[in-house]
Amino acid sequence: MRVLGIETSCDETGVAIYDTESGLLGHALFSQVDLHADYGGVVPELASRDHVRKLLPLVRQVMRKTDTRPADLDGIAYTAGPGLVGALMVGACAGRALAYGWGIPAVAIHHMEGHLLAPMLEENPPAFPFVALLVSGGHTQLVDVRGLGDYELMGESLDDAAGEAFDKAAKMLDLDYPGGPRLAALAEKGDPSRFTFPRPMTDRPGLDFSFSGLKTYTLTTVREHALADGLPDEQTCADIAAAFQEAVVDTLVIKCRRAIRASGHKTLVIAGGVSANKLLRERLETVLAKDGARVYYPRHEFCTDNGAMIAYAGCLRLQAGEHADLKIEVRPRWPMTEL
Ligand code: ATP
Ligand code: MG
Ligand code: FE
Repeated sequence: MRVLGIETSCDETGVAIYDTESGLLGHALFSQVDLHADYGGVVPELASRDHVRKLLPLVRQVMRKTDTRPADLDGIAYTAGPGLVGALMVGACAGRALAYGWGIPAVAIHHMEGHLLAPMLEENPPAFPFVALLVSGGHTQLVDVRGLGDYELMGESLDDAAGEAFDKAAKMLDLDYPGGPRLAALAEKGDPSRFTFPRPMTDRPGLDFSFSGLKTYTLTTVREHALADGLPDEQTCADIAAAFQEAVVDTLVIKCRRAIRASGHKTLVIAGGVSANKLLRERLETVLAKDGARVYYPRHEFCTDNGAMIAYAGCLRLQAGEHADLKIEVRPRWPMTEL
């Protein structure tokens, strides 16, 4: 089975073709980061318009590169939610229409299920059941994954997502959007022991998170050490970045360990943009190894949004007999537990 995947839920246009026999045949991504940089965040209307411009050329490019004709395809998968409504509409309309025109089924994919399955595109894929930590720009969730579509939410952030906290802390340190990876790079030059940031909600039982307090803590620390230009000196900025990253990573690791113990599973999958974080990966591997558990994550480029994870999820959903009807529907808010 060969499936074309389309991702347009936020600020990246992603297209890929996955084949159940040969694996990932090809993929292409256009990131709108430069388009939104001046605004310090994603501007929904600009995002939708740019998806309109980039999507079909990317589809053509991937079809050509992988030597795929429409007749070779068994289906088209598109992200139907959660995400920005206008951005989702572009991918859903295009995906649904192409599938209709080419006489093949379409399938609507949940963006977070895409993230969750992304590690399965790697050479040594994880097997069900496992605990998934979904850490991205919009989500921080621990999910008990028993099989495709069998998801139980174990815990989630009650306020900001971890990626959002990274981006906001980065902004306070005057780093460009999206700040997460930039803050992580700055942290490498910092001393993580100079400041000690709180580990929110780790002093009580439970698997929920809260990252908004860390944001305030960061702001207060930045202000306390600010020089005339409003920013601390370079080394202090790096030390703050390191303390912030340390606190987020430590908090995530504590909760992942708890979740693994509570579930009885021996596999942890991390996915979503923040799963690209080097310190998070290293710490999780070391700590969970003590419990005999293994950690799986996607290759770097598939941690953030991409078409490959949607094409792959599409294959699994189509193989399970699912497909979308002709009505084009998107769900900007869509709990994964409803799958
Ligand atoms: P969602 O998937 O929840 O809808 P999204 O699609 O915007 O949100 P992703 O594209 O999966 O999120 O991830 C982007 C987020 O990942 C951003 O917040 C970004 O700062 C963060 N991020 C990326 N790389 C790193 C890193 N190395 N360290 C920390 N954060 C990172
Ligand atoms: Mg993104
Ligand atoms: Fe995402």
